[in-house]
Amino acid sequence: MILPHAAVQTPVFMPVGTQATVKAVPQHLLEELGAQIILGNTYHLYLRPGHEVIRRLGGLHRFMSWPRAMLTDSGGFQVFSLSDLRKVTEEGVQFRSHLNGSSHFFSPEHSIDVQIALGADIIMAFDECTEYPADYARVRQSLDITLRWAQRSKDHFAAHRDERPWPAHFAGQTQSLFGIVQGGMFTDLRRESAERLVEMDFPGYAIGGLSVGEPRALTREMIEATLPYLPEDKPRYVMGVGYPEEIVEYAAMGVDMMDCVLPTRAARHGLLFTSEGRLNIKNRRFAEDQGPLDPECCCMVCARYSRAYLRHIFVTQELLAAVLNTLHNLAFYLDTMESVRDAIQLGVLPALLARVRARNNGGATGQP
Ligand SMILES: [Zn+2]
Repeated sequence: MILPHAAVQTPVFMPVGTQATVKAVPQHLLEELGAQIILGNTYHLYLRPGHEVIRRLGGLHRFMSWPRAMLTDSGGFQVFSLSDLRKVTEEGVQFRSHLNGSSHFFSPEHSIDVQIALGADIIMAFDECTEYPADYARVRQSLDITLRWAQRSKDHFAAHRDERPWPAHFAGQTQSLFGIVQGGMFTDLRRESAERLVEMDFPGYAIGGLSVGEPRALTREMIEATLPYLPEDKPRYVMGVGYPEEIVEYAAMGVDMMDCVLPTRAARHGLLFTSEGRLNIKNRRFAEDQGPLDPECCCMVCARYSRAYLRHIFVTQELLAAVLNTLHNLAFYLDTMESVRDAIQLGVLPALLARVRARNNGGATGQP
């Protein structure tokens, strides 16, 4: 993907930087880890410090000193997760802030205005993320609203696309607005959603409404049912997934972009992903283990620190534990996706897939 701030090689994993920071990791280390593109959350940045503040400070890239590519979500998913604090109408969503209970209104137009002010390379149409489980009639009605909101997002972006906060040297390149497929866990609605969005002609498409509590086999089934209806020559982005073995599977299915809080959130709870499976660093068996977290990992943490040390700083609740654990987990995810890109170029993706599946079935050191 050629984006205004960077070229991004796909398939790509995108670390999540909710509050204009990927928790516990400074930007220069994100660059060193090889993060090509990171996420910002529109809902959180709208509340604090406010999108107009960020616009006046030159946009999100300059504000957080991130020179590479960025993507912002539409705020729809966060507003959706405030279930008892929100009210959805045709016009938009009325909701209360999780911070102080103050009342706010997001419409497709407002979400796009906020995302233009933030200035990410890729921005997302405003959608309603349907809850799970939801019956057919409920998903049908929600999908119809999301499709009308997609058109409104597109129209509003077309009228205001030149209002982004970047300097003139990006002339000729602007933000890209992606559509989001919804349709709950119903394959016919997923197909209809994809086809209607493709008729609207977005430069890229996301598959949303997954990882909302459904079984993981169903997540995969919905991705499989949707991908054939999205053009292969445009980016296809599955939002909010997954475990390391899943991101390899999805990439092999033709998914180009994925994001997930799992590597960063799990790291702060001491759950680490390794080539030998998942491990919980607070486990007593690591107390005198001088080996690296993951003998196959080349990251800056595995090159320098022992499991015994990482366990010690975790159980004593030192801030450094969050930093080092997050660095390793992100390295593991980013390296995993890099190995997928290499395998695609070398024509050996089936072999990589077989190795990942074997590891997942046999070699794991245990579930969390
Ligand atoms: Zn490592």
